[in-house]
Amino acid sequence: MQLSCVKENGAGETRVALVPADVKKLAQLGFAVSIEQGAGAAAGFADSEYAAAGATISGDRAALLRAARVLWQVQPLTVGEVALLPKGALTVSFLDPFRRRELIQQFSVSGVSAVSLEMVPRSTLAQKMDALSSQNNLAGYAAVVCAAEKLDRVFPMMMTPAGTLTAAKVLIVGVGVAGLQAIATAKRLGARVTAFDTRPVVEEQVRSLGAKFLKIELGETGQTAQGYAKELTAEQIALQQQGMAKACADSDVVITTAQVFGRPAPRIINAAMLAGMRAGSLVLDLAVTTGGNVEGADAEREVVTSSGARIIGCANFATRVPHHASQMFSSNLLAFITHFWDKEAKRVKLDADDEIMRGCLLVRDGEVAHQALKKN
Ligand code: NAD
Repeated sequence: MQLSCVKENGAGETRVALVPADVKKLAQLGFAVSIEQGAGAAAGFADSEYAAAGATISGDRAALLRAARVLWQVQPLTVGEVALLPKGALTVSFLDPFRRRELIQQFSVSGVSAVSLEMVPRSTLAQKMDALSSQNNLAGYAAVVCAAEKLDRVFPMMMTPAGTLTAAKVLIVGVGVAGLQAIATAKRLGARVTAFDTRPVVEEQVRSLGAKFLKIELGETGQTAQGYAKELTAEQIALQQQGMAKACADSDVVITTAQVFGRPAPRIINAAMLAGMRAGSLVLDLAVTTGGNVEGADAEREVVTSSGARIIGCANFATRVPHHASQMFSSNLLAFITHFWDKEAKRVKLDADDEIMRGCLLVRDGEVAHQALKKN
């Protein structure tokens, strides 16, 4: 059974889906592992390390795809490349399924199976397969490091013979996986951190990290059974904006991570709130690729507002720490494959009765298998 991994071709993608340490474990399961030449280079993994671990290195991308029974990627292949996969192959990657319908169609045409890592359920059992969490965690870290580097002042309070420097004030909006890591990282750097989320359960977690929770009365908010935020009404968003305007004006750094699963990201920071921020302050939008929390945020370039605040669109920030991001991603995929590996039959079980598989298998042997995609 050949498992292939090819070089990522997405713009700015530095990660690789498979790291050398996991090649041996795949071989023990019974896979013959093949990887495209240079696939791990941008993440600091040399071809020689893959070869030493037992992988075959190939410069022929098309041949790797044609021979793949299982394909591991971070980002999905192009439609043209999916067409090269043999019937019955299984692809495991991020897929952005609600916005990439053409890919779903090609999976069907090619008769292949496709797992979307975004759809792995948030259950305790599936935690080790949760690539969205592992990558968002690192994105939260990378956003704070970026802010610390770009800010015109230091993060920690410093008492020096030349005077006392006050600690930077950091506001985190959205306290999921990325937000929690952003709070922890900013605290480690000595900033004064305040955070806000619409899910009331988060308040305790924010406090336990030593940060302050910003209280805004929004009425009923709650969360879904999966632990995701519910979408706010327009009135609630307006209340949130009123409640956050002063906190934004008072902050040196605002980092937004607010998402609502399957929906565009809520627009929270508007032009009026930005106008109230001081020159040199920073706003980092980690939701920029799903619609953006911040008015005017751009994934491609930094934007300076009329007040002199700077907006940074943080697209795919886990790619800033590609070595560790790849290590975690590969470990998530290994946990997934190991969990569903049928030792006797030597194949991956696409078991419709399994809760995890039912949650993330979009297409089975060319047939659309996921309820959410069947409905649309
Ligand atoms: P996410 O990426 O969907 O959203 C990020 C955060 O934005 C969430 O905390 C959400 O409540 C918040 N948000 C949404 N609208 C907002 C608004 N208008 N203003 C402010 N904040 C807003 O979330 P996530 O990182 O995927 O995590 C969601 C939850 O699931 C968290 O509680 C997380 O700890 C939990 N989780 C559980 C598991 C598991 O049990 N296996 C795995 C991962 C995450």
